[in-house]
Amino acid sequence: MQDDEQSWATLIPSFVSGVRTTKIPVSLNEFDLQYLLDCLDQNQNLAATSLGASSPFELGRQLIESRDNQTFSRYDGNLAGVVTRKGIRTDVVSPTRLQDWADCPHKYFMRHVLAIREPERPEDQIRVSALDRGSLIHESADRFFREFLESRSTDGEPVTYTDADVAAIVRHGQEVATELETRGAVGRPIFWARDREALLNDLRGLLINEQKREIRGRVVASEFGFGIDGASVGAIRRTLPSGRVVTFRGSIDRVEMTENGDLVVVDYKTGSVEPYKGLSSGEPTLAGTKLQLPIYALGARAGFGNDTTLVHSMYWFTSNNPGRWQTKGYDVTDQVLSDFDSTIDIIINGIERGVFPARPQENTWSGAGRCPYCDPDGLGSRELLKRWEALKLGEEFGPVGVLWDPKTGNTPTQGSPDD
Ligand code: SF4
Repeated sequence: MQDDEQSWATLIPSFVSGVRTTKIPVSLNEFDLQYLLDCLDQNQNLAATSLGASSPFELGRQLIESRDNQTFSRYDGNLAGVVTRKGIRTDVVSPTRLQDWADCPHKYFMRHVLAIREPERPEDQIRVSALDRGSLIHESADRFFREFLESRSTDGEPVTYTDADVAAIVRHGQEVATELETRGAVGRPIFWARDREALLNDLRGLLINEQKREIRGRVVASEFGFGIDGASVGAIRRTLPSGRVVTFRGSIDRVEMTENGDLVVVDYKTGSVEPYKGLSSGEPTLAGTKLQLPIYALGARAGFGNDTTLVHSMYWFTSNNPGRWQTKGYDVTDQVLSDFDSTIDIIINGIERGVFPARPQENTWSGAGRCPYCDPDGLGSRELLKRWEALKLGEEFGPVGVLWDPKTGNTPTQGSPDD
């Protein structure tokens, strides 16, 4: 027995030495590593050594090789030939779901194909989330307008809301705020006291600032659903330029009717107006990232008009934050619907072709993502952004790449979490 050995232990000089000499590798990794060390000892070319498709070493090597060149591989979200039409379910869709693909195809894949949900940790939350702020405004407004519609006529000029109406919407807001508190979704009390007051102020503003919307009518419906459970109107079918038929369902925040029978669709937005800059009848979907207005117009027509009813659709930024009380919208003309159909065709084509690259946000200094899928540790996704740029310039996405092509002027504006 050597000096450095005891009866109960054997000295192993290093990890590599242990892997080289062990008779029983304890994992597939150690087995592969032992084989590679043998090949090295025999002066074989390691780059040409095959380890088999299931080897973690082999997969790692393929990943590094594929990312070192400009090809769009499965390591970048190229699932061509892997996804099936049934698996990705593109027959019945909502506009917000398709927006996710235009915004970031990888996010769409994680959220809508793999159905991986973002974890909620209310105990770590310092302030109420953007999503819950949005739901407080939407839910309170819906309760108010449903109650309002029970007692008021839907005919005539747009209503000027009274102090009693403002008090009523605030009361609904207080109820929803209490429900959020019960769920533990409001963050720390010191911040919630201020956030709660700001949200109730936004609800007051929702009625007080009505006159700031240049096109208004009389409210005829709140949270008007089409193609969803309990809705009075079925799903909206669109035949796309390729001949493909897609069916949409959704819920419209508010539908109004003007005195001459035109319709007004209002979609509340509690986030920043910034991602909506440039939205117009000439750019009605901002390269697929803003799809609600055209399809909501068709839903409103199905409920309250006919194929020729003029509909003006708008996003309304219902907050006292910067961008306060602005609208962004347009008349939904045949040309707008034609642009919408062409964009949907590209998006559906991209999903069915298995195009799911990660498209990180470009305008944050840290490069951190907008969702946790690529950035679970919060350290940023700068490398992904470089990869996205390289793939985009290399025209690796085929015909669907036109959506992100700076040469065609299609540069989607990325959304905020409460969009
Ligand atoms: S973190 Fe960014 S790049 Fe990754 S899936 Fe989410 S939005 Fe896309």
